[in-house]
Amino acid sequence: MNNVLFKGIKLLEGELPRDVLVKDGVIAQIAPQIPIDNATAQVDGSGKVMLPRFVDAHAHLDKTLWGMEWYHNDVPSDLPSIIENERQYRAENGFDSYRQSSQMIEQYLLNGTGAVRSHVDVDTEIGLAHIEGVMEAARTYKDMINIETVCFPQSGLLQRAGTFELMDRAMQLGCDYVGGIDPSSFDRDPVRHLDQVFGLAEKHGRGVDLHLHEPGTLGAFSVELVIERTRALSMQGKVTISHGFCLGEVEAAYQHQLAKQLGEQQIHIATTAPANRSVPPFELLRSHGVHVAAGNDGIRDTWSPYGSGDMLQRAMFLGLKYRWRKDKQLEHALYAITQAGSVLLGLEDYGLEQGKSADFVIVDAHNFVEAIVAQPKQREVYRKGERIVTGGRLEVAQ
Ligand SMILES: [Zn+2]
Repeated sequence: MNNVLFKGIKLLEGELPRDVLVKDGVIAQIAPQIPIDNATAQVDGSGKVMLPRFVDAHAHLDKTLWGMEWYHNDVPSDLPSIIENERQYRAENGFDSYRQSSQMIEQYLLNGTGAVRSHVDVDTEIGLAHIEGVMEAARTYKDMINIETVCFPQSGLLQRAGTFELMDRAMQLGCDYVGGIDPSSFDRDPVRHLDQVFGLAEKHGRGVDLHLHEPGTLGAFSVELVIERTRALSMQGKVTISHGFCLGEVEAAYQHQLAKQLGEQQIHIATTAPANRSVPPFELLRSHGVHVAAGNDGIRDTWSPYGSGDMLQRAMFLGLKYRWRKDKQLEHALYAITQAGSVLLGLEDYGLEQGKSADFVIVDAHNFVEAIVAQPKQREVYRKGERIVTGGRLEVAQ
């Protein structure tokens, strides 16, 4: 494996350019000046920024219609209609979750993402077909990207008999997390729903990642039940609440109390920073040690035409939603698409530090803030010191 010295490249705003030496796939040294020797290739980093490979902590690889004919969306906007429409579309159009996951994974690779946690639908119509498709795609691309799977009862866990058994089988197949959805408002029995979800996680020794769209105090009640179960089962660090809009809606004293307990139980939050909903209080949660990571959620599917899979774009959406303007504030956005995601996914060896794996993205930008707002299309992506993307294409053939 070649040794490479990146000369004079920016790492974070406010810092002077650094030299970064990569040896045998590992970041061997970061310093203001590193002398070059004959055995080391040199890359001029001037005018460029090096960022850790991005992490999408909340995706749905099996929903995307990426690369297919354009989907003309005329779907009613209530949740049951959207879910029913998606089931019907799949049944009529021969949806192939392996093909669609693979298409999306290639987009993620091109834009510099190195890890994705994907919720994958499990229901009594599609069975485990989507789980199997996404897992197969994860195996195909395993040398370039880490894909985690969450078995996700999109159509409800309690209201469709047989779903729990399917999820149990999904976990036996090697799913990484047990999913759930709106235990009060959607499944209308929060205690039973969460007992089943946490019970499965305990049985298989895995974590939980719960979709929680419930508003205000109803959602906060579900959050309390999640905290209670995390504490009782000693699952600290293994539980994520996705969306958690309610955390941005309850009154301040209750919000602080929940943030404190989430921090104590090391429960993580994944947010998409949607334009139309409240968002979890990012800085308050961070101050309590809660990791808040970012995700794209669905990308160009029957739910909506939005999304590109680009985590730099998602970081900008966070900045806009949270009204971050200062460079220092936008460090939160960078953290959400990098370090926080690495904690949620339990990625060891992550980050631009000596001794860590040489997994990074290089873009033309003055600093990381410009990278977030300009989202340069041309990205050089490295995995274990090897360049895998340049000039907008994958260098490694599948
Ligand atoms: Zn989702």
